[in-house]
Amino acid sequence: MTLAHFLHGLRCASCGTLNALWLDLIRALVECHQCGQTALTLTDTDEGRSL
Ligand SMILES: [Zn+2]
Repeated sequence: MTLAHFLHGLRCASCGTLNALWLDLIRALVECHQCGQTALTLTDTDEGRSL
């Protein structure tokens, strides 16, 4: 059993495969089972902002 959630209706930005993305809750990223591409799920709008 894995803490991964199948993401319906999402298309991989790398290989373009539909419904091949899984949400990895542990690492907080999305992984494509087709090409293995991963992407962070957290919004990066605040990235680079100095505190
Ligand atoms: Zn892919």
